[in-house]
Amino acid sequence: MAIRVQLSPRQAEARAEYESFTREAVVPYADAWDREERIPEAFFKDFAARGYLGAAVPPEYGGGGLDAVTFGLLNEELGRGCSSVRSLVTVHGMASYAVARWGTRGQRESWLPRLATGEAIGAFALTEPGAGSDVKALAATARRTGDGYRLDGEKRWTTFGQRADVYLLFARLDGRETAFLVPRDAPGLTVRPVTGILGTRASMLAELSLDDCRVAEDALLGRPGFGLAAVAATALELGRYSVAWGCVGLAQACLDASLAYAERRETFGVRLRDHQLVQRMIADMATGTAAARLLCQQAGWLRQARSTESLHATWLAKYHASTTAFRSASDAVQVHGAHGCGGEYPVQRYLRDAKVMEIIEGSTELQQATIAESAYHARPQTTVPTGGPTA
Ligand SMILES: Cc1cc2nc3c(=O)[nH]c(=O)nc-3n(C[C@H](O)[C@H](O)[C@H](O)COP(=O)(O)OP(=O)(O)OC[C@H]3O[C@@H](n4cnc5c(N)ncnc54)[C@H](O)[C@@H]3O)c2cc1C
Repeated sequence: MAIRVQLSPRQAEARAEYESFTREAVVPYADAWDREERIPEAFFKDFAARGYLGAAVPPEYGGGGLDAVTFGLLNEELGRGCSSVRSLVTVHGMASYAVARWGTRGQRESWLPRLATGEAIGAFALTEPGAGSDVKALAATARRTGDGYRLDGEKRWTTFGQRADVYLLFARLDGRETAFLVPRDAPGLTVRPVTGILGTRASMLAELSLDDCRVAEDALLGRPGFGLAAVAATALELGRYSVAWGCVGLAQACLDASLAYAERRETFGVRLRDHQLVQRMIADMATGTAAARLLCQQAGWLRQARSTESLHATWLAKYHASTTAFRSASDAVQVHGAHGCGGEYPVQRYLRDAKVMEIIEGSTELQQATIAESAYHARPQTTVPTGGPTA
């Protein structure tokens, strides 16, 4: 795999803009949003006005059409400030990307301009009570009627489900996995808020109940039977890419907070930064974060080049970045001692958010299984010592 790490002047400029937005408009409020378990309406408006919700929407429909690396930088900087805001970009991006990639001309013209401006917020509703990692266990059903479809089933853990205007939702049509665009006001759809979640608390999660839910004919996205293998797969790949970059930002935030605290706090007559065991934690955070950023950049360049290798590169990036974020967050709390457990510093939020990153968009274990399997396929065909008994 080729790697390129140099940002173009435009990408560097975009990163500076995202960094300054996050510093001014996200960081000062993120702890309050976490406590209140919601993001205020005024933020959605400001965020949308800046074009950040249109990041994954093609320019011809009013979106930013960001290249993959610039989209990654947006996620990294937001992830540094608030994983819930980054989650908004993730799920809204997944819904937008799916419409752009799989929608008919009519669906694209109907939804994309609204998704680009934030007039409509999109969410991704795949998980069910009996179908999480095992997406093939999908049990929601759809049946044809004279003028559209009727949907029945339950969806769980829908990020920004409380706030969404349209759900990219998956159900079985004649037994085949199929994607639908379900508007919030579809008759028969009930949205219930989920509260008290461990991390990404401001991401306004919801449970959805579909009870003979009526949608129009043009709600079907892509072809029947292509819901998981095509529509969900491409949306999840974008989601995984977005989360991976968000984790780089989260790990960086852990490092930044730890550096600042270890510089100030003194024990046994010296600053924490002078204790070698604290230095070990700082060194691990710095190295893990730098490596995660490189893996994300590699995935970004490959995605931009439309290389088939980008899928695998994204798995590596998400696996490494999410596990690094969790370890870094745990060490950041450790560096802060009791102060890390209280509400005065953001590191306890980072730890709660980082745990969620190891579960969403393909859990750590599923990634390990996938990466290990592909490592066998990528094995060089040269003869290597196999060990075992020798003559
Ligand atoms: C904050 C949050 C936001 C979410 N947002 C969304 C959303 O917007 N849309 C959506 O559709 N879903 C969402 N989810 C759901 C998420 O995608 C699922 O939680 C995830 O797919 C895992 O499914 P599960 O929780 O049912 O765990 P399970 O699939 O029941 O797995 C439980 C544990 O077993 C492990 N495991 C399972 N199978 C294997 C295996 N074959 N080998 C080894 N280990 C295995 C898993 O890694 C995990 O550790 C969200 C979840 C959370 C917590």
